[in-house]
Amino acid sequence: MQIRNSSDWRDAPPFELPVAAAEAVPGDATRCSGCGPTSEPWPREALWVVKHRHPTNPAGFVRFYCADHKPAAKLAPVAAAAPERARRTRAAAGSAAPRKAPAPIIPEREAVLCPDCFVQVPATGVCGMCGARVG
Ligand SMILES: [Zn+2]
Ligand SMILES: [Zn+2]
Repeated sequence: MQIRNSSDWRDAPPFELPVAAAEAVPGDATRCSGCGPTSEPWPREALWVVKHRHPTNPAGFVRFYCADHKPAAKLAPVAAAAPERARRTRAAAGSAAPRKAPAPIIPEREAVLCPDCFVQVPATGVCGMCGARVG
């Protein structure tokens, strides 16, 4: 198995989650880590690639596995991360979305009473009782 240090395709797959090797890193037939160094290489289409966490290297390291040796996906870290991302997204959207349009500026006016009806005249200046325009 040959892994070039300069390749950056390994940044893409998530940790501890098998991805199809033919999609992640197309190339020549490669041995499965589980089948051992004396085994026959598998075509990429039959291989899975898993990025494992490394105790000291934050970039982790990758292994190729055949279908028989493909480790079960450890979904716990991914599942824990996903809702957190969703929460953050929702929070960000929530802070931005409900921006109310500024209330129209209504100049304050003193209550005006219709001199005839003695009721308060609305902002239109027209008495609701008699229809007289009151200044
Ligand atoms: Zn194998
Ligand atoms: Zn009136």
